[in-house]
Amino acid sequence: MKQRIALLGSTGSIGTQTLDVVGRHSDLFEITTLTAHSRWQTLAEQARQFNPDSVVIADESHYTALSEALADTDVKVYAGARAVEQVAAAGNVDVVVNSLVGYAGLMPSVAALKAGKKLALANKESLVVAGDIVMGLVGSEGSALVPIDSEHSAIFQCLAGEHSPLRRVIITASGGSFRDTPIEQLESVTVEQALRHPNWNMGAKITIDSSTLVNKAFEVIEARWLFDLRPEQIDVLIHPQSIVHSMVEFEDGAIKAQLGTPDMRVPIQYALSFPARLELDAPSFDFLAHPELTFRAVDRVKYPALDLAFRCLHEGGTSGCIFNAANEVAVAAFLNRKIGYTDIYKTIAHAFECVPLVVHPTLDDYAEVNCEVRRVAEQYILKR
Ligand code: MG
Repeated sequence: MKQRIALLGSTGSIGTQTLDVVGRHSDLFEITTLTAHSRWQTLAEQARQFNPDSVVIADESHYTALSEALADTDVKVYAGARAVEQVAAAGNVDVVVNSLVGYAGLMPSVAALKAGKKLALANKESLVVAGDIVMGLVGSEGSALVPIDSEHSAIFQCLAGEHSPLRRVIITASGGSFRDTPIEQLESVTVEQALRHPNWNMGAKITIDSSTLVNKAFEVIEARWLFDLRPEQIDVLIHPQSIVHSMVEFEDGAIKAQLGTPDMRVPIQYALSFPARLELDAPSFDFLAHPELTFRAVDRVKYPALDLAFRCLHEGGTSGCIFNAANEVAVAAFLNRKIGYTDIYKTIAHAFECVPLVVHPTLDDYAEVNCEVRRVAEQYILKR
């Protein structure tokens, strides 16, 4: 029996690479649903190639255009955020690949787990915002969660076959676009400079998040939930080569690492094929061509976002939700050239000052705090 996949966010970087993996293993996987936010032309092309049962365009204003583009096919066309949740829980789906960006990924993750699906999770914000609720649903109705984020996939791969508790995880960070830029110059960097990631080719939002290390901060929170870790069990190291994707240290001091040339298709494919591995056309890694793998500490003054992650681990409640919502607003404003680069962190810090913490939030509380933080952050940006 083929695994039937609902791919949420099919036109993004993870989405297109997931389709690449599925296309190579069409004997094992089939696409039953594709969803996209607004790129309806690409979605229509993907639908013609992969012949899903249904497609969803989250931005309802493109519904008519998409329907007309697929009028001569059997593909059912839906629109809206609620429809994305519904297809994540639909009966014709075994695996939900959630590669949505931001808070929008949370409710589809919840819907997939409640419906007993295997959730292959690239949307780390699901765990950053509401890790308590999301992890509480894993196992219900036979559901499971497998990470796609490369660092967490690395840890997950290191843990395969292990039954003993671990001492700590070491999450590696490339350092992003401004790894070698002095802190004094950050105030005047441009959008174009920020979008130039040294090692990974990714979407705009996550490339900015990598440069501020907000992405790494989110990955600390994500690791806490995925692997049930205490804050002191999570270390972060700058590893400029991005070859060691992360490491696990066990109680006896032994360390396992997962290495390879950066290629997101590896963690995507592993999430789909786990516990098996499948062939991929990735070239063998040449150690002699990369004789130096180096590591250094994160500069906590240059990258204050990392301390914020540990604050979120200690405070819990809605702190991750505040962090994420303020960052989403600030990064969008930076990309639209409304604020400078260093205003991103200032906006986040302002939101933490203004929005009170809810200690034991429900999903409704998370939704409310998400809206409130956006309002506060947008006001702050208008005044800048
Ligand atoms: Mg990552």
